[in-house]
Amino acid sequence: MTHLIERIHLGLKELGVAHTQQQTEQLFRYLDMMLGVNQYMNLTAIRDPETAIDLHLLDSATLLTVVPPHKGDRIMDVGTGGGLPGMVLAILRPDCHVTLCDATRKKVEFLNGVIETLGLTNAVAIQGRAEEIALSDDHRDGYDYVTARAVAALNLLCEYCLPLTRPGGVFVAMKGKRGLEELNEAKNAYRTLCASVPQLIRSPLSGTECCIIKAKKARPTPKGYPRSGGAMRKRPL
Ligand code: SAH
Repeated sequence: MTHLIERIHLGLKELGVAHTQQQTEQLFRYLDMMLGVNQYMNLTAIRDPETAIDLHLLDSATLLTVVPPHKGDRIMDVGTGGGLPGMVLAILRPDCHVTLCDATRKKVEFLNGVIETLGLTNAVAIQGRAEEIALSDDHRDGYDYVTARAVAALNLLCEYCLPLTRPGGVFVAMKGKRGLEELNEAKNAYRTLCASVPQLIRSPLSGTECCIIKAKKARPTPKGYPRSGGAMRKRPL
């Protein structure tokens, strides 16, 4: 157990992510809950704690060095699943407010349990589909920083995430090795949903081919977007 906490600490240090002993322990407790619950609820395919530290916790933490949120940012993690990257952001950035959204109720219940157990006061998990949440005034064009990892192809993901991003805010997609191809296929989606030309940044995590794709939202979401999930999939932007 102590060697796992040490691995988290050293990994964050190598990335240059500021953290306290308490935050390192919170990350460990979160991982422990995730891997425990994973025995009966499918949250992650990774069962080995060392690999989960690298590919879940540290991979999520790369956001904090590549596109650091500003103090006070309202962050939204779309399709957070077991809480990635959003729970890691909530633990490491208590100065930001993080909303974790997922379509699956059981996952959201797990996440609210983690938030309560860890005593996080800057995070909440909500159940719903991003494209439906974005239709409500409480959320539409409402977040400074919208992120997602392993949820959908980038052109679809744009339509999930950009309507939730406020004008002047950023949409930050975490992608794998097909990132550049996906970016090229999503150019029209970025344009249609009023974002700047996206920028691809390689992940600083050694041994991965992941990337982070960042775009700034320029204007409010045009009427008619996001479309229903069915319409999006039938006629992707
Ligand atoms: N981001 C996590 C989970 C990825 S799995 C990680 O990196 O590990 C994808 C998750 O997205 C699933 O939990 C699924 O329920 C959720 N999801 C897919 N489409 C969604 C949508 N339109 N709105 C909200 N959640 C969605």
